[in-house]
Amino acid sequence: MKTAIIWFTNDLRVDDHPGLAAATQQNDQVIAYYCFDPADYAVTTWGFRKTGDFRARFIAESLEELARALSALGIELCYHQGDTAEGLAQLAEKHQAHRIYTQNHWMPEERARIERCQQWCSAAWVFHHNSLLIDPEDLGMNLEDLPWIFTEFRKKIERNLRIRPAVKARKMSDSCPPIHPIPELTSWNIQPVSPPSHTAFPFRGGGASALERLHHYTFGTQKVAWYKHTRNGMLGVDYSTKFSPYLALGCISARTIYRTIKDFEQQHVKNEDTYWVIFELLWREFFAYTAMKYGAQFFSGFGIAKQLSPEVPHWKKSPSVNPWQQKKSIPSNGPWGRWVNGQTASDFVNAHMVELAQTGWMSNRGRQNVASYLVHELGVDWRWGAAYFESLLLDYDPSSNYGNWMYVAGVGNDPRARVFNMERQAQQYDPKGVHQKTWLQTALF
Ligand SMILES: Cc1cc2nc3c(=O)[nH]c(=O)nc-3n(C[C@H](O)[C@H](O)[C@H](O)COP(=O)(O)OP(=O)(O)OC[C@H]3O[C@@H](n4cnc5c(N)ncnc54)[C@H](O)[C@@H]3O)c2cc1C
Repeated sequence: MKTAIIWFTNDLRVDDHPGLAAATQQNDQVIAYYCFDPADYAVTTWGFRKTGDFRARFIAESLEELARALSALGIELCYHQGDTAEGLAQLAEKHQAHRIYTQNHWMPEERARIERCQQWCSAAWVFHHNSLLIDPEDLGMNLEDLPWIFTEFRKKIERNLRIRPAVKARKMSDSCPPIHPIPELTSWNIQPVSPPSHTAFPFRGGGASALERLHHYTFGTQKVAWYKHTRNGMLGVDYSTKFSPYLALGCISARTIYRTIKDFEQQHVKNEDTYWVIFELLWREFFAYTAMKYGAQFFSGFGIAKQLSPEVPHWKKSPSVNPWQQKKSIPSNGPWGRWVNGQTASDFVNAHMVELAQTGWMSNRGRQNVASYLVHELGVDWRWGAAYFESLLLDYDPSSNYGNWMYVAGVGNDPRARVFNMERQAQQYDPKGVHQKTWLQTALF
């Protein structure tokens, strides 16, 4: 009997999952593995935890759903709390697994973990790209030829866009294996949390919730047909798709979203708004491929900039003199502490920072502004902000997070720094101050 292991990371679904489909088709028995590795919850050198409470909760919800869906396919999801490689090696030995299927990662930390696991497990390794819209084989270019500017990338891609058809996992058995409880993470200082009722992201994690949200935004309410008009909003659940946490954890495939929008366009409306969701998905793709190309450079102070614009502050020209880089914990006073705690001179910034801390969510408009303010107004190294977002965001994704932070800081794909005027932005996007009141006047709620 051929037994294989499928190691889940940020691909927590059963629908349209290339690795799972292949594993179930090519083997007699499949065992699923997920690891709560202390490294993912540790306090980093920046002084805060790598995974905050809200994302930990979202991961747990997503795993609960994944375990149920896998069990219905006759696959047991086994958890390990500890070192990923050790847990995987133990499981592989116990089941005499001859193959290990997993998601292909390109960021240095994730790659290093895979390589360590490969040293521990002598089984044959099978990699799939489970999170991309466009498979590298269908990209139509080598990474060396990847355009530097998004518009060029998009135009090139759109000329010959190939989206693979959906794949389906085979049911392995009619009997449902046990569903194990999620390990307690309170010993790692992960606390049970709930966002306030006015959060813009009140949704649960998991594949079924992701599909529900996709249906709601498309066929259910047809909000997708107004997306470009509403996407700069900041309040309520429907100004934007809210797909990002599901995409970041792989609860849904980018291809499922793409195909649903195409079906919606055929059956209802095709306009600039429906197109714009795909346009934004291509930004996600652009950052993913750019990260694949540049690897560790994504995390360096100079980023991937080819040249620095003349207005860059001194710390960018010489990151080693940046005083913030030396700090090991968040100082309670000073610009950094004021930014984190939502106590800067700008209430527009403050409201967004409070929202992030209380919910794990912030709109794209908010992210652009608070990032610009931290880097250009307060003069703090962009990587502090990126690391803080990494800890708190529900939808943290290394390529999109670091790619966007570099972009705003002026050390990314566009050498122009994104310097926003907070007063003007507040006037334009929160003219009646409703967002600010929502998050700053806590006595109202
Ligand atoms: C400083 C900063 C940090 C960010 N960090 C992350 C992150 O860690 N994870 C993340 O998914 N996005 C990140 N973004 C991009 C963007 O803000 C979020 O994807 C978006 O706000 C999520 O909300 P939504 O799903 O409703 O997006 P929508 O506006 O509905 O867009 C649809 C989808 O397109 C993709 N998308 C939209 N805008 C972008 C963008 N600028 N870059 C890449 N993909 C995009 C997302 O997958 C999103 O779900 C960041 C942006 C900034 C400025």
